[in-house]
Amino acid sequence: MLSQVVQLVEQKQRFMITSHIRPDGDGLGSGLALYWMLRSLGKDATVVLRDRVPPAYHVLPGSDLVVVQEDLTEAYDVAFIIECSDVERPGLPSLKNQFVVNIDHHSTTIPFGDVNWIDPTAAAVGEMIYNLCKAVGVEVTKEIAECIYTALLTDTGSFHFSNTTERTLKIASELVRRGVEPARISQALFYSYPFSKIKLLGLVLSGIECDDSGRIAWVTVDRAAMYEADASEEDSDGIVNHALSVGDVEAVAFFKELSPGVYRVSLRSKGRKNVAKVAECFGGGGHRNAAGCRVEGDFEDVKRRVIEGLQTALGVSPVSA
Ligand code: 5GP
Ligand code: MN
Repeated sequence: MLSQVVQLVEQKQRFMITSHIRPDGDGLGSGLALYWMLRSLGKDATVVLRDRVPPAYHVLPGSDLVVVQEDLTEAYDVAFIIECSDVERPGLPSLKNQFVVNIDHHSTTIPFGDVNWIDPTAAAVGEMIYNLCKAVGVEVTKEIAECIYTALLTDTGSFHFSNTTERTLKIASELVRRGVEPARISQALFYSYPFSKIKLLGLVLSGIECDDSGRIAWVTVDRAAMYEADASEEDSDGIVNHALSVGDVEAVAFFKELSPGVYRVSLRSKGRKNVAKVAECFGGGGHRNAAGCRVEGDFEDVKRRVIEGLQTALGVSPVSA
């Protein structure tokens, strides 16, 4: 609960902040906003991540201060874990020995922390950190504002998704008043891609397929496409959303070959179609309209199982995939 988090922030001194592996805009933005908030209060704070900060997010103030390591090397008074489904998802094994505060906006989260603050009505954890700043009386500085704005912008799909509410836009407006330049953030996030990313996007989208209903589509990134585009792992982020832009398509799956027989699956949907439930069947999770999981097996079999899961979720009769 927020009141417990406020109490800890006021009473404790040494804080650690982390988020999931392959950090995204909300994990990084809300984590760094929390970092700046704690620093404003004169607290010791460190952001520790297992994976590096993707170059697009170097626009975030404090991104250069993120410590990238395989595990924690110190004990802290409080370890904040941002938008993770369990204590393992940050990929830092000794987190389980720390006093953990779980901050999340996923409805699928099981409360795994010593303190759990979960608000599924928040568009992004960034919204929750904004509320925390208000609750502890920290002024929203330009640094904090830029971090929170990035969290909101990315988790709402540039304010396109259904999690965008009046509150989200009010907060965004307040952040702009505090010094955020929306075009500068968008430029860094969406108009600074390496050539390889667009090359990969083209290769992958040219192979888009859909089922007989036309309501379910999928795209695949295999190692050959990654090689042909000379792509980095991050270059495949976001491709899934392009597949969803087809008018008749209601849900999409994105398959990425991580290694032979191991696939990352991203699922997206429109409206009330729930893909988190499909991801959960494969040990993953997420939100109604954006979820993911990791699936192992023969590719044709993995594809068939996931697409059948989507067909069931959409109430489409399982015709050929
Ligand atoms: P993405 O497809 O962009 O990787 O993830 C979309 C959403 O699904 C995010 O909110 C993310 O937290 C969630 N998600 C993705 N992969 C996993 C996973 O393996 N486990 C869980 N619990 N959630 C995931
Ligand atoms: Mn989020």
